[in-house]
Amino acid sequence: METYFKQFLYDLISIASTNPTSDKEDEAIACVEHYLSCAGIDYQHIVVDEARHRSCTIARISRSHLSATKRNSPTAKGALTFCGHIDVVPVSPDERLQWKTPPFTPTRRENKLFGRGTCDMKGGIAAVATAMRNATTNTSHFCEDITFLVTCDEEDRMTGVRALLRYIKPQYEGALIIAEPTNMQLMTASRGRSFARCTTYGKTAHGSQKNAIQQGNAILQMQHFLNQIANENFDHTNDNITGTSFWQPLSIRAGVEPGIIPDRCTCMIDTRLSLIDNCQNFESRLQSIAQNCAHRSAKNIDIDILDKREPWITSDDALHVKILRNIMAQPPNSQLLAQNTFLGSTDGNVLAMHGYKPVILGPGDLACAHRANEYVNLDDVERACQIYRELITRWCESS
Ligand SMILES: [Zn+2]
Repeated sequence: METYFKQFLYDLISIASTNPTSDKEDEAIACVEHYLSCAGIDYQHIVVDEARHRSCTIARISRSHLSATKRNSPTAKGALTFCGHIDVVPVSPDERLQWKTPPFTPTRRENKLFGRGTCDMKGGIAAVATAMRNATTNTSHFCEDITFLVTCDEEDRMTGVRALLRYIKPQYEGALIIAEPTNMQLMTASRGRSFARCTTYGKTAHGSQKNAIQQGNAILQMQHFLNQIANENFDHTNDNITGTSFWQPLSIRAGVEPGIIPDRCTCMIDTRLSLIDNCQNFESRLQSIAQNCAHRSAKNIDIDILDKREPWITSDDALHVKILRNIMAQPPNSQLLAQNTFLGSTDGNVLAMHGYKPVILGPGDLACAHRANEYVNLDDVERACQIYRELITRWCESS
């Protein structure tokens, strides 16, 4: 791995761009912009939330990088777009005790690089940025519009990628590569995700009042609601690629101590959606259960849908999928051909809803993200860089 590539990765990991607890997402974006602009790559800096130090960047290898002859030749192809997020999840006090090395000091042990964000997903960002840099130094084959979207706030509400939608639009096939950790397996489908805040209401009363329980205890209303949630059958959502949809409560809040019957209970219901399901169905299911419960208790349950990320699948006929399969079928990557589904949600879910055709391919194992002693294998980061670089070359050659 070249020194500048490695140094850039180390620099990125040293910036604790945690979401939601830091004010350093900006700083990490600036680090990427500096690295790319050193190779003459242009970028557009987009401020997303000034107060929270959040921004994104859109970097482009553009026409100005072309050799004189190429610059004058017509290019048939639209943009090939890469995407990655700069924010990382925080390290809780309990988790910090489990780390064997300081999480924001990149530490190498043999070929593993340890640190928060090594796997999810600064390894992938370093690989894409370096592939772009290396592409600008080779003028033999070139096309314009190799774009790299570097986003903030992916780990929470995805405000970063949504802010970018005003500045980008898919061209040609909307070819998109998300550099999230997939252990260098090509993923051409992703489950969807949606989540909702559900609120039950009651009436405060003294905790000694047994009669007040029936009408007034918001926790008991929620318990009834959650029982119905647990009984929902998802068999009809089964497809043979992503399995069935499911849902579960991920947080719950109620009660004022001491000794008051609670008048409000809120619960976050999170759903993961199969390819034949969608966010509207999730909302309908919730509303229908809420109406049933309200009918029995004569109290309304409020449902606020907080986010919608539709499932997606990208066809094997898409040019970037064909090229990637072709590159990776060659030794030593012949094990990478399997059709795979990404289980988490990514910026790709948002971009797919606006005409992009994502695939996910990147260094690192998702199973070691968001946990103590997160690491990425440096050989995988380098291999990702080579594959991205080769994709850029073949994409440009085929235009
Ligand atoms: Zn990620």
